[in-house]
Amino acid sequence: MKISVKRVAVVAVLMIVAAVLYFGYPPEYKPVRFPDGKTFAFCIVDDTDGATLDRIRPVYDLFGELGIRSTKTMWVFPTNDSTHWPNRGVALDDSVYMSFLLGLKARGSEIALHGARGGNSTRDETTLALERFKNVFGSYPRVHINHYRNLDNLYWGADKLSVFPFHTLYSLIFGGAPSYGHDTLSEYFWGDIAKERISYVVNYSFQEINTLSVDPLIPYFDPSKPYVNYWFHSSDGGMLSSFCDLISKENVDRLEKEEGACFVYTHLASGFVKDGAVDSTFDARLRYLASKNGWFAPASEVLDYIRERRSQSDTITFRQRVHVEGRWLLEKALHGSR
Ligand SMILES: [Zn+2]
Repeated sequence: MKISVKRVAVVAVLMIVAAVLYFGYPPEYKPVRFPDGKTFAFCIVDDTDGATLDRIRPVYDLFGELGIRSTKTMWVFPTNDSTHWPNRGVALDDSVYMSFLLGLKARGSEIALHGARGGNSTRDETTLALERFKNVFGSYPRVHINHYRNLDNLYWGADKLSVFPFHTLYSLIFGGAPSYGHDTLSEYFWGDIAKERISYVVNYSFQEINTLSVDPLIPYFDPSKPYVNYWFHSSDGGMLSSFCDLISKENVDRLEKEEGACFVYTHLASGFVKDGAVDSTFDARLRYLASKNGWFAPASEVLDYIRERRSQSDTITFRQRVHVEGRWLLEKALHGSR
C-alpha cells in the first residue's frame, strides 16, 4: 500500500494539535473557603539574598503595622563564597539578626530555610544547620527555598523539569546550575533529611497574582521528585518593580474577586528600602492590599489549611505535570521567571 506523505503530515499535525489541547488545557480552578470569612489568602515568601537589617527592617516594620504575617527565609551559616552577590547577607551567627528573627516569629511570622548558607554545604553541614535552626527556633523549618547556584539545592536548574523534552530544552536554552541535594551519590545529598523534616519547597514562579489559579493542585507531591514532600508555586514579585506590578489595584481586585491565593516570591533586600524608608509606591500598594479582607499569613499555615481540606489526591498526574512544566518553561523563556 502506498503511504501518502500528505496524509501522514495531516495526521501528525492533528496529533500535535490534540496533544497541545490535551496538555495545555488549564486545570479546573476551585476557590478555597478561607478561615474567619477571609476572601483571599496572601503569603509573602522572602528570599534572604543580600539581606542586612538596614535593608529589610523597615519593610518588616510596615508588615507589622499592617498586620501582615509572612515567611522569612534565612541562612544559618555565613557565606563561604562571597564572590557572588546573592550569597552575601547576614546569617544566624549575628546575635542582633537572631533577635530580629525571633521577634518576627513571636509575632506569628514563619522563619524558613534558604539552604544552610549562601554557598555550597555538604550533607554534614546541612545537618548541623538544621539542628542549629531547631535549637534557636524550637522546631525544624517547614519551608525550604533553593538558592541561586548552591550545589546542595533540591531538584534545581534543569532538574526542575522532569518531562521530556522540557528538561533537555531547559539545558540547551539556559544551561543552568547543577544541583545534587537529591543525588544519593553526592556529598551534598540531604534529600532524605529534607523528606523527614521539611514540609514544603517552592517550585516554579509565575506572572500571575492568583497562584492557585495557575495550579489548583498546590501543595502537591511529585513522584518524579520523591525527596520533596510537597511543592508549591509562587507569583513573581522577585524585585521591587515586579512586586509593585503584581499588587497593582487591578490585580488585587481580581485576586479578591477570584477568592484566590497568592504566594508571592520576593527579595525584600533588593531596593525596597531607600535611605531608611520603604519605597513609596510599594508602601501605598501594600496599604491598599492590606485594607482588603485578606488572610495575610505564612506560607505553611495557608498550605496546611488548603491541603487538609482538599478532597482530591495530592499527587500530581502526568498530564498536570506536562501542563505546569510547559507553562513555566514558556514563562521562563519570555520573562525569565524563577
Ligand atoms: Zn537566594
